[in-house]
Amino acid sequence: MKAHDGFYIDGAWRPAVGRDTIDVVNPADEQVIGRVPAGTALDVDTAVRAARAALTGWAATPPAERAARLTALRDALAARKDEIAETVTAELGSPLAFSQAVHASVPIAVAASYAELAATHAFEEKVGNSTVLHEPIGVVGAITPWNYPLHQIVAKVAPALAAGCTVVLKPAEDTPLTAQLFAEAVHEAGVPAGVFNLVTGLGPVAGQALVEHPGVDLVSFTGSTAVGRQIAATAAAAIKKVALELGGKSANVILPSADLAKAVNVGVANVMSNSGQTCSAWTRMLVHRDQYDEALELAAAAAAKYGERIGPVVSARQRERVRGYIDKGVAEGARLVAGGTESPREQGYFVSPTVFADVTPEMTIAQEEIFGPVLSILRYEDEDDALRIANGTVYGLAGAVWAGDESEAVAFARRMETGQVDINGGRFNPLAPFGGYKQSGVGRELGTHGLAEYLQTKSLQF
Ligand code: NAD
Repeated sequence: MKAHDGFYIDGAWRPAVGRDTIDVVNPADEQVIGRVPAGTALDVDTAVRAARAALTGWAATPPAERAARLTALRDALAARKDEIAETVTAELGSPLAFSQAVHASVPIAVAASYAELAATHAFEEKVGNSTVLHEPIGVVGAITPWNYPLHQIVAKVAPALAAGCTVVLKPAEDTPLTAQLFAEAVHEAGVPAGVFNLVTGLGPVAGQALVEHPGVDLVSFTGSTAVGRQIAATAAAAIKKVALELGGKSANVILPSADLAKAVNVGVANVMSNSGQTCSAWTRMLVHRDQYDEALELAAAAAAKYGERIGPVVSARQRERVRGYIDKGVAEGARLVAGGTESPREQGYFVSPTVFADVTPEMTIAQEEIFGPVLSILRYEDEDDALRIANGTVYGLAGAVWAGDESEAVAFARRMETGQVDINGGRFNPLAPFGGYKQSGVGRELGTHGLAEYLQTKSLQF
């Protein structure tokens, strides 16, 4: 894994204007594994200019040609699958098997889906006496988090390129090496110079410069609700469009007729995988009072099994944040049935898989996003109570419902204020729209809904 000491701008690696750098740390052993340049507003300006200069040509490229470049990008990512998995493991800390199965594989499927959509999407439609053209929105400023470093990038860049937009990407400071690998794959795929540009750097410097830049038409951001709010305010002043994928506090609702053991085991795995750093994780498990004690036993056993396999969280800062929430849970009266603040290993930013019982809906750990391997189990009295608890946060990103009968689960899911619900452990679908109700975001990613974020319409009347 070699780090580039420049930015990928206008089809080549170019030196940074400033001298500041960011150390990349392996969270499993706390060693510095690389160093990347920290971009300034000047670097961002150079990248945005390159993206603007490339826009007219790329927007006019036939969709079939854009599809061909995306297919080549898919192939380039597939060819580097092992390198990608190793790089994600090195800078994020996720176990290699998870990096291979999820971090490296899902982006390949998403890139493939946009190669196909670019070729098949109707970029023109007839509405009465009008022809409606679906045109690229322009230059996209993409800002991504570290938790699924490559997926977050591909879920923005692939639809943007399919739509005919050009992009400047500012990836998370904790995981810039995966972003550099992605830029190499874009280059290998023969995407024309300036269509995709990468500037690594700090959020409040390079990220903010990108949001404020008048040459950016759309800011597509995934990250915390706090930063999303700030970005939306800045963009609003310039009447700039935003797409925001923000935080979550999703509910896993286990109805009394469900297969309890399955629902609890899958629920625990959902929270512990990626060390709890999944925005759509079902971090609140809702169990009927008659099944509560049995669910606690099952959850504690499932969490203990994870103890050996779990990776570290991304950084020392993140570990402190998660520990702070565990302390707060105890202070507010929740009961630990697995894990706690003690580190399971001497080295690395590890947090034990943690399960809280006796969590009530108003507690901090039931309301705020923890972003670590911490599950809260809440007790409900009846279905209406379960619904009130499930909908009782500012978030609405994802969720799950389990019942003996699919239609019973679906009836409950229809009443949930959230963007995605998995029914009885439904599988991930890379074509299904993903995004939030309420403060979990604005807009959708993936599939045709994700493509639509990067298009604007023009109506011709005849
Ligand atoms: P974060 O908001 O701190 O950072 C995300 C990105 O924004 C990073 O690239 C960062 O450098 C940049 N940034 C920070 N300050 C900025 C500023 N002032 N202007 C412009 N850019 C700025 O979030 P994080 O800690 O990296 O990621 C965790 C958060 O992301 C969690 O809240 C999680 O729920 C959320 N998330 C949401 C989704 C989703 O799809 N809804 C997916 C993954 C993560």
